[in-house]
Amino acid sequence: MIDVMNFHIPDRSGIQYRQPATVAEAVKILAENKGRAAIMGGGTDLMIDLRSGEFKGDLLVDVTGIAELQGIREENGRVVIGAGVTIEELRQSPIVKDKLPALAAAADKFAGLQIRNRGTIGGNVGHAAPCGDTHPPSILYDG
Ligand SMILES: Cc1cc2nc3c(=O)[nH]c(=O)nc-3n(C[C@H](O)[C@H](O)[C@H](O)COP(=O)(O)OP(=O)(O)OC[C@H]3O[C@@H](n4cnc5c(N)ncnc54)[C@H](O)[C@@H]3O)c2cc1C
Repeated sequence: MIDVMNFHIPDRSGIQYRQPATVAEAVKILAENKGRAAIMGGGTDLMIDLRSGEFKGDLLVDVTGIAELQGIREENGRVVIGAGVTIEELRQSPIVKDKLPALAAAADKFAGLQIRNRGTIGGNVGHAAPCGDTHPPSILYDG
């Protein structure tokens, strides 16, 4: 049971924020700050971990501005989905609907619009919750 009277949000005012423009830049920042940095997609899981004290680092590396991590395309008979693609983009993608209908169905049942607009497939995999909705279709399609 949660003791409501003694529940407090940890002081995270020292948190730093970086927004690299390329994967190479992100990897460099992460390598230089091992143990204190976390990759941030939409932040829909990470913000909760931060406020609860589960995330103990002090550097957020926001990858949502990296063009290389965006987009859904077909390449050599495979569908390539960037880690930064949001759940709503998956839900609306004609390629996903046509080639990966189970993933489209999972995206369709995923949370509400606000979370779908922020949350990414990379973050869903990265968070690795057993209940992650993109995991079963990703396994099904050999992702
Ligand atoms: C109200 C609410 C409803 C939700 N409903 C659902 C639901 O119906 N189904 C469901 O499956 N989930 C649900 N979630 C959980 C969450 O929205 C998803 O897991 C979402 O896909 C996380 O994506 P994100 O980009 O916000 O990840 P973030 O919170 O940014 O990151 C999550 C984790 O993944 C890592 N990460 C992020 N991006 C990358 C990357 N590119 N490469 C490697 N690691 C990365 C981060 O370091 C962190 O450890 C819900 C959450 C909330 C708050």
